[in-house]
Amino acid sequence: QSLPVAILVPGQFNDHAIGRIDRTFRQVKIERADPSLVTDDIRRTVRGIASFGGINAALIDALPNLEIIANFGVGYDSVDARHAAQRGIMVTNTPDVLTEEVADTALGLLINTIRELPRAETWLRDGSWVREGNYPLSRLTLRGRTIGIFGMGRIGLAIARRLEAFGLSSIAYHNRRRVEGLSYDYHPTLKGLASAVDTLISVAPGGASTEKAVNAEILEALGPNGVFINIGRGSTVDEAALAAALANKTIAAAGLDVFADEPNVPQPLLDAPNMSLLPHVGSASEHTRSAMADLCVDNLVSWFSQGRALTPVPETEKVKARR
Ligand code: NDP
Repeated sequence: QSLPVAILVPGQFNDHAIGRIDRTFRQVKIERADPSLVTDDIRRTVRGIASFGGINAALIDALPNLEIIANFGVGYDSVDARHAAQRGIMVTNTPDVLTEEVADTALGLLINTIRELPRAETWLRDGSWVREGNYPLSRLTLRGRTIGIFGMGRIGLAIARRLEAFGLSSIAYHNRRRVEGLSYDYHPTLKGLASAVDTLISVAPGGASTEKAVNAEILEALGPNGVFINIGRGSTVDEAALAAALANKTIAAAGLDVFADEPNVPQPLLDAPNMSLLPHVGSASEHTRSAMADLCVDNLVSWFSQGRALTPVPETEKVKARR
């Protein structure tokens, strides 16, 4: 009987996914996704990777028998999928199963930012309510806001549907391509979108094509009543420009779940007024993370038992199993 397939798991990983990998495969742990940690045994045996990302070309090249990288998460900007495709290696992600959870978090972050709910709770807990009276009225409201979604994909649409239920029907979006059959206003440029709305929600993927797309010019276009929310990737924002825009009142408020260099949040963002911050918890419930773990591992199981992946990323859709 052949040995179970060796799956490399770099760094911390989801417990449910680890349990399933251990039952079906041979799990090979390394401390982090670093090619210098690849031993001769790993080089010879590893045929799959399960990871939260961080898989670069050097690590891919250090594993000559690698067939599949199962990314835990829908965003795979930290996996070099183009290099994997060139080497005939499949890359999978975990779309759909996290969409509703992330959209819920986006709405929570939007309301926290606009109605200052975390600060109001601190006011109660630190005794200010007793000492000083009612929490000050929030300067901003969700009522009457016009919404722009940067990245109208699966999650963007789930956010838009929620906003409609909140009574906000003025919704527009920017993608590289118009979405067929969607009635929301389409803007071919991000600047055009930012000029047309007072609330910009970014749920676009990371990577070179969106790097620092939300810059000083976009924030200026959003304007003094502007609110910026980022639930996509930190790399899409010029963080220094955002901190300056809040300090100078170029925009009114911002809420961030994601950062360029997680978990390090730059001091100017921590110090910026009217900023609501979350530690990348968009999909982070046990329920949704278990569903993501299942899809991540199901991709490995399907690949090694049937020779096909369930949810390949577009770059590797044409990659075929070697046997
Ligand atoms: P989708 O692929 O369904 O949607 C992405 C959308 O972004 C598409 O509509 C795409 O349209 C648009 N887009 C991509 N590149 C660009 C670009 N360069 N300029 C303008 N628009 C662009 O992905 P999901 O909705 O499932 O996920 C979106 C992202 O959300 C993920 O990639 C991930 O980074 C982030 N995310 C964050 C989470 C968190 O915890 N905070 C959790 C889950 C996801 P087009 O191709 O036409 O440009």
